[in-house]
Amino acid sequence: MPLVSMRQLLDEAAKGGYGVGAFNVNDMEQIQAIMEAARETQSPVIVQASRGARAYSQDRFLYHLMIAATEVYPELPIVLHLDHGNSVATCKSAIDMGFTSVMMDGSLLEDGKTPSSFEYNVAVTREVVEMAHAKGVTVEGEIGCLGGIEDGHGAGGDGLSHLTDPDQAVEFVKQTGLDALAIAIGTSHGAYKFSSKPTGETLKMARLIEIHNKLPNVHLVMHGSSSVPKELQDIINQYGGKLKPTWGVPVEEIQLGIKNGVRKINVDTDNRLAMTGAIRKVFAEKPEEFDLRGYMKPAREAMKKVVAQRMVQFGQAGHSKDYSPIPMEDMAALYKKEAVKV
Ligand SMILES: [Zn+2]
Repeated sequence: MPLVSMRQLLDEAAKGGYGVGAFNVNDMEQIQAIMEAARETQSPVIVQASRGARAYSQDRFLYHLMIAATEVYPELPIVLHLDHGNSVATCKSAIDMGFTSVMMDGSLLEDGKTPSSFEYNVAVTREVVEMAHAKGVTVEGEIGCLGGIEDGHGAGGDGLSHLTDPDQAVEFVKQTGLDALAIAIGTSHGAYKFSSKPTGETLKMARLIEIHNKLPNVHLVMHGSSSVPKELQDIINQYGGKLKPTWGVPVEEIQLGIKNGVRKINVDTDNRLAMTGAIRKVFAEKPEEFDLRGYMKPAREAMKKVVAQRMVQFGQAGHSKDYSPIPMEDMAALYKKEAVKV
């Protein structure tokens, strides 16, 4: 089947009471790892590419790899999503290329660093919603700012400086008409999210629940939600790496989020850690190895294992055949009739 709308995937996830992992990719091996994990667990799939990934891969390569994924895994509904679009133009270029979902992150200015005003955020997000929905494409927006910096994108800081204000979130959804809302509850991008196991003081699940209670029908998105498991850090350090001790978002907190409106969970770091650890292990144990397949294959396998585990933990496993995808043109018609509502 062709690439599908993220809105439909998230609507179905809401009906089924589960979450869907959105995994970042830069290359073929990562796409294959996700697709194999999805086939094994019978999961609907969200693959996402950041601006950095689009630049690294020359995004036309990435797009065609995703088309290959739809051909090789025809039984799976697959979304191609733009992660953290920094401007209307960036979102437009993704939509023109064939992405079926985009994030307009207007919580930051176009530089991807400076927190913006509420009015700016509404204006740019609204503009992307109009442009995207005309083609059936899904839009994710963000209110409040995540911590950390990833791929040159982010407000920096510890994740607590720009938490989402629940009343502002309600107003933002009303004024933009978006499909999914990313919120800031203390998480950060990258590997160094928390300096100890997060508590209610550092990871504000109570804030998430408050937002969900005010917006019970809105699909919430948790960014920066790798769990950064110690065993993946240990493999890297065991084979010559130098990661400092760090904590991510525990899976049980994500599961609590899923019970409270979280439908999309962004995971990147865990997969990076898994692949890096596997490659380091080969290099340490077989220093004579120079065939890339000798280390990319175990790296791909290590990522597949983490992704499959998350798919089960988020509850999306077993749901790939629950529904038939609505063609993008039909989604556009539904938006036009206002049959798809927040
Ligand atoms: Zn993010």
